[in-house]
Amino acid sequence: MSASLATVAARADEPSTPGKKLGWALVGLGTLSTNQLAPALLKAKHSKLSAVVTGTPEKGVKWREKYGLAADKVYTYESFDKIIDDPDIDVVFIVLPNSMHHEFTIRAAKAGKHVFCEKPMANSAKECREMIAACEAAKRQLGIGYRCQFELHHLEAMRLAREQVFGPLQHLDAGFGFAIGDPTQWRLRKALAGGGALMDVGVYALQACRYLTGEEPIEISAMETKTDPVKFAEVDETIQWSMKFPSGVTANCLTTYGFNGCDHFTAYAEKGRFGMKPCYGYSGLTGWTSDPKIPLAFPQTDHFLAEMDAFSLAIIEGRRFEPSGADGLRDLLAIEAIYRSIASGKKETVEKEA
Ligand code: NAD
Repeated sequence: MSASLATVAARADEPSTPGKKLGWALVGLGTLSTNQLAPALLKAKHSKLSAVVTGTPEKGVKWREKYGLAADKVYTYESFDKIIDDPDIDVVFIVLPNSMHHEFTIRAAKAGKHVFCEKPMANSAKECREMIAACEAAKRQLGIGYRCQFELHHLEAMRLAREQVFGPLQHLDAGFGFAIGDPTQWRLRKALAGGGALMDVGVYALQACRYLTGEEPIEISAMETKTDPVKFAEVDETIQWSMKFPSGVTANCLTTYGFNGCDHFTAYAEKGRFGMKPCYGYSGLTGWTSDPKIPLAFPQTDHFLAEMDAFSLAIIEGRRFEPSGADGLRDLLAIEAIYRSIASGKKETVEKEA
């Protein structure tokens, strides 16, 4: 990640070719597509809903009626590859369980489409590398759905950290979790989710540490606890981990599926502090700093609208989009070091990206 993130996000609001909107296909019509992505696409300036991909025919009918899609704009997982002949689809947005991101990203790239993929990018760094290679081979962009990188409080926090407004950063404290319900859902199945709270929401705390420092962690030490070994038989419930960055900045993080209310970061710098709580949800985000003259307060925005339009605009203008697959890969490299540390009971180093 770089300081150009703020520029990328801000440019989503700039005018481009008048009326030019890229066509998006949503793959997977679950909670996120239904409640956030499709409504955001209706408001978008550079993006529109052109097609859907679903395994449930009844959902296809409902979506056709609601969004005025023609019958041939509803694909199934089996007919998905036919999108190669659909000029109305520019971007494929993968909104499936984590283990399916790899397959559908590669199939979309082979069909010549740009790919926007939900977090976590995949179940392993190896899969991330294959997804990046497939998109590069197809000369198509691969963006990752790290919506906080398009949110105003987070962008300003990055500026405060990077420009050392409170002096050099010294320590970070970040956490995200919630009490997960239904024990039968895919998020608790390792084969589909890749892991538990860490893969799902811990990645937000990890991201925050990475984009605030602008650095990659070099050493990680982690500990896992389970209060319900039956419900969490396959995946992690609660993980605490510490990271050391090359500049010497340290971080303590927590993620959980066990309880509500953990949703924050605090940045400790030489001459002051700043942070957010709540921090990673879709609305109600609140920032603070130790200096009343330097507020961290902005209107709430639609993160999904911002990220999708920023991706479309980057493609329309021929610019490279960030956060790209490389950013998703860097998170998986850190996540793998966290799981290795839990298994070994020791401090682990993070594998290098290249
Ligand atoms: P969901 O369970 O609501 O929807 C998943 C969709 O995948 C459903 O339409 C389901 O029918 C389909 N599916 C296909 N094969 C499946 C299988 N074998 N098992 C289960 N479902 C299957 O999930 P969601 O909350 O929409 O999450 C989808 C993706 O989006 C995940 O990768 C998740 O991490 C990500 N997500 C991101 C955010 C964010 O804020 N960026 C928020 C929520 C979810």
